[in-house]
Amino acid sequence: MLSLVVAVPGCLGAAELKVAVLHPLLADVAQAVGGERVEVVNLGGPGADPHKFEPGPKELQAAQGAQLYFVSGKGLEPYLGKLRDIVGGEKVVEVGASLPTLKAETLCDHGGHAHVHETDDPHWWHSTDCWRRAARVVAKELAKADPAGAEGYGKRSRQYRRKMEELERWARGELAKVPEERRVLATAHAAFGYFCHDFGWRQLPVQGLNREQVPSPKFVSEVAAVIRTEKVGAVFPEKRSNPKMLQTIAKETGVKVGEALIADGSGSVEGMFRHNVKAIVAALAPAH
Ligand SMILES: [Zn+2]
Repeated sequence: MLSLVVAVPGCLGAAELKVAVLHPLLADVAQAVGGERVEVVNLGGPGADPHKFEPGPKELQAAQGAQLYFVSGKGLEPYLGKLRDIVGGEKVVEVGASLPTLKAETLCDHGGHAHVHETDDPHWWHSTDCWRRAARVVAKELAKADPAGAEGYGKRSRQYRRKMEELERWARGELAKVPEERRVLATAHAAFGYFCHDFGWRQLPVQGLNREQVPSPKFVSEVAAVIRTEKVGAVFPEKRSNPKMLQTIAKETGVKVGEALIADGSGSVEGMFRHNVKAIVAALAPAH
């Protein structure tokens, strides 16, 4: 059979693989590891709230032709079953599935009585160690879908892991400026468990794992008491949320309100870490 193949200049360097991501920060790792071979479609947009986001017809249309769907996992996306049914289960990759999991206790009062549930904390994106592992997962999945690009994916994954190592070193150096007894991170929702675990801090959130969990007045007064007795230096709102109880606690205890942190990710991983670490150090390190 005779076929005529014409090389069109505009097609040179075009992507070999289309990948959809359902968490804004997964776009960062997918693009960094995928390089020019991969077109990344961030279905939630750059600043979507991953606790609330759920792809609809518009997003699925934008993802048409995607060979892979990278999702965060660890229970963050309740719609995964539906998504697998629509796009094919083998295409949906839970990046968080093979990463270390921290447990979190959440207080619920459904069923008429308050009780504690132990659940997986989904916020692994605050761990540079998790990002190093995530880069490997992404490279492996991309190589499976596009074996011709495997070498490049491996190389860029190593570069990304080195970048995360440097970022972690920088963060450790900065956070060391805060005296040990002040290493308590009082925040809005409980997004910083992995961050505190990695860097040896204590997390003191006023809300649960997502922003819908509204604490009882008793819980708020308990947090305020801890802030007073432990002389916590500051409380931190979030870019997207500044709950009233955080303001109430700040007023009641006279504690400083730090700059808003990025809790659920937007932009790049490095950008998020640098912003958060700088905000924490600015509020808690002794002034020179
Ligand atoms: Zn969150």
